[in-house]
Amino acid sequence: MLYTTLGFFALTGLVMWLHLRDHAQGSRAPAVRPVDPPCPRCGAGVPPGSTFCPGCGVPQQIFEIVSAPVSVAAADGPAVGNPRALVRADMCVGCGVCVASCPVPGAITMQGKLAQVDDTLCQGHGECVRGCPVGAISVTVGTAVNRVSVPLIDANFETNIPGLYIVGELGGRGLIKNAINEGKLAVDHIARVLESGVPNIDSATHAVDVAIVGSGPAGLSAGLEALRRGLSYVVIEQGSLADTVRKYPRQKLLLAEPVAIPLYGDLWIADSSKESLLQVWETIVANTGLIVHTGARVENIHREGATFRIETPVATYHARRVVLAIGRRGTPRHLGVQGEERDNVFYDIVEMEAFVGKRMLVVGGGDSAVESVMGLANQKGTEVVLSYRGESFSRVKERNREKIEKAIAAGRVKILFRSEIREIRSDVVVLEHEGNATILPNDYTIIRIGGDAPYAFLERLGVRIVQKDLPSPTSHARTG
Ligand SMILES: Cc1cc2nc3c(=O)[nH]c(=O)nc-3n(C[C@H](O)[C@H](O)[C@H](O)COP(=O)(O)OP(=O)(O)OC[C@H]3O[C@@H](n4cnc5c(N)ncnc54)[C@H](O)[C@@H]3O)c2cc1C
Repeated sequence: MLYTTLGFFALTGLVMWLHLRDHAQGSRAPAVRPVDPPCPRCGAGVPPGSTFCPGCGVPQQIFEIVSAPVSVAAADGPAVGNPRALVRADMCVGCGVCVASCPVPGAITMQGKLAQVDDTLCQGHGECVRGCPVGAISVTVGTAVNRVSVPLIDANFETNIPGLYIVGELGGRGLIKNAINEGKLAVDHIARVLESGVPNIDSATHAVDVAIVGSGPAGLSAGLEALRRGLSYVVIEQGSLADTVRKYPRQKLLLAEPVAIPLYGDLWIADSSKESLLQVWETIVANTGLIVHTGARVENIHREGATFRIETPVATYHARRVVLAIGRRGTPRHLGVQGEERDNVFYDIVEMEAFVGKRMLVVGGGDSAVESVMGLANQKGTEVVLSYRGESFSRVKERNREKIEKAIAAGRVKILFRSEIREIRSDVVVLEHEGNATILPNDYTIIRIGGDAPYAFLERLGVRIVQKDLPSPTSHARTG
């Protein structure tokens, strides 16, 4: 009897212990599988490590800025440590100008197509920041945070002004492939919104469905998507087709992975020249019949009821939606002289070594003109003349003034104060210097007399510009 009773209690105890153990384990186990973070565009779960959304197929890296929270603090804690350069892997185009600009050997080097900073050598003086043609480098102190100023947009690239979208480099992300993807996605969203039956607009205005401003990679892809979706559209460009790419002096472009272009298919350009990229775009435009209104600078955009009024000096357009794809290079001020639109005239200068051994004329008297002159004067065999209509450098930083005065004294730069350009030809520039007509032998002219910055334009339109902190750039994958 005793044994039976003891056996009963032992068995009951064992059953209870097993039950309690299972219960305890059960409560420790997750009730549900952890949910994958949602794709900002379609909401499908994106498993960690996936580059593309399994739902809508969109590359997730283009949402990096959109998803980053707006910074409210002026700085995150006290700045501790030495200033140092940070390279944004998603903007670096692998040109190596930063390496050439840096006075500390080894502080910044090229690792394949990506510039990398050696924190132990970098002194954070920022010459690489000034050298970088695409704004991919900043100097920071303390935690490796890269603070960027960007227009506030949502995952469909729509700004705080309903119906006004921003795509491409203007939104803060560099590279041709990102611009192409964003242009397409913004217009896809517009098409879906308009298809869902937005109340119609005043037909007397003859408003098109979408006006696309800019015909770089982002604007072209937006235009092609509008064409593919059967939307009425207008593409407005201040210069010529794909003006930014057309104007850069680079021989090689890197688009190391295919990017799908509406109505064309995969574009895959690796180590090809800008000329071949332009040729592909011109062929696509010709084959699809996409209409681009070139030579029309958009100066203002107003909301008029349910539509937008888009003003250029040559025409006014009305549209139900607007996609701004104007890049970050702004609108340079022109001299208004004959020959100014020639291929040997630039308004921005990048990659100084493209002008080695050439006869250069720089026009302007501010910091950007002086910095261009100094960059060119450092190239082997390059002859540099600076033309400025003023009497002296009254507006430049002290540091730039010292540098240029030294270069003039050393005979590396010739300066023509009180001079004005009259005409630019293929191999000479005609100018008036102290009242006398002068003909200057010349290969290239760089005009650096200011202009309208794109963010000033956005602020005028009422677009909110915010600061965002991006994660340490070293964690970015370089894909193209
Ligand atoms: C020297 C250099 C080398 C580069 N190399 C590479 C590379 O190898 N690979 C790569 O992926 N990227 C490279 N890039 C970056 C790449 O060119 C840009 O990321 C890309 O062109 C951005 O495209 P976007 O359409 O946003 O803007 P953009 O190409 O800048 O196009 C903007 C267009 O809008 C027009 N516009 C501006 N304002 C107005 C207005 N008010 N009204 C009407 N039109 C307007 C401009 O004329 C321009 O045609 C390089 C850039 C530079 C400067």
